[in-house]
Amino acid sequence: MDFVSPKDLSEALAAKAETPDAEFLSGGTDLMVSVNLGNHRPRSVIGLRHVQELQEIADSRIGAGVTWSRLEQGPHRALAQLARTVGSPQIRAVGTYGGNVATASPAGDGLPWIAALDASIAVASQARGERTIPWNEFFIGVKRTSLAPDELITAVVLPDEVPDVQEFAKVGVRNAMVISTVNCVVMRFDGAFRVALGSVAPTPIRVYEPEAMLNAESSPSPEAIAEFGRLVSREVRPITDHRSTEAYRRHAAGVLAQRLVRRCLAA
Ligand SMILES: Cc1cc2nc3c(=O)[nH]c(=O)nc-3n(C[C@H](O)[C@H](O)[C@H](O)COP(=O)(O)OP(=O)(O)OC[C@H]3O[C@@H](n4cnc5c(N)ncnc54)[C@H](O)[C@@H]3O)c2cc1C
Repeated sequence: MDFVSPKDLSEALAAKAETPDAEFLSGGTDLMVSVNLGNHRPRSVIGLRHVQELQEIADSRIGAGVTWSRLEQGPHRALAQLARTVGSPQIRAVGTYGGNVATASPAGDGLPWIAALDASIAVASQARGERTIPWNEFFIGVKRTSLAPDELITAVVLPDEVPDVQEFAKVGVRNAMVISTVNCVVMRFDGAFRVALGSVAPTPIRVYEPEAMLNAESSPSPEAIAEFGRLVSREVRPITDHRSTEAYRRHAAGVLAQRLVRRCLAA
């Protein structure tokens, strides 16, 4: 396996342009698991750990190379909450937001936050420079994205306004070191709720109909919140697999979404 370790973004993009089938390595907590299991053997690897441009956090961007342990301390409440649930301290010390986005697992804990915010993914190539892809055009299927073969993810791009009122929760088969059976983010923008879920469809999803129903009332009653939960359970598109059943995921999605709406109302 060839390995190169570029010192900056332009070197990383040049390495990818030169060897288009090379794979990026950030924290390695997804890629190396697959290599160690014998499922995967990349011929060339481009290490991103020394690319400073990917480590930056600004008001409008979170660099792809920012680790979960840094996000745990950050200003965005739900992002910090979800970062604290990723793996173990060792995984969070090296695993990155960009790696989670690139893997695009339906269960990826970082993805519903992006969907709830209507955020975008910034990507770059040597040939075309940087472009920004809305989240719902970036995630296109189970572990599939619209990243072109010569592109690198540079950042998650945030909208101008990020609400203070935001909550994350997930359910899994145990309390820690667990892949989500269902995960959920609820935010409140100028009084209007936005609700995104993961592990209930091939990609992260927003539940627009339940959102609209909830937002029809300025202060939703307990009955309206219960009805909202029923609509969420109906709208999600989960499957049965080795982690859970379709029926349980539908139920859990409705329960989690209601719980987070109540937390946002109490904030
Ligand atoms: C024990 C354990 C527990 C875990 N727990 C959780 C959990 O609770 N929740 C969760 O969501 N995930 C979990 N994961 C999965 C993993 O830790 C996360 O998805 C992590 O964010 C991946 O980031 P990374 O930097 O390690 O990615 P890497 O493994 O380095 O890369 C993953 C993929 O992304 C590509 N890639 C990396 N960076 C870029 C980039 N900048 N541009 C383009 N492509 C790129 C790589 O080529 C590779 O295909 C767990 C993993 C382990 C091993």
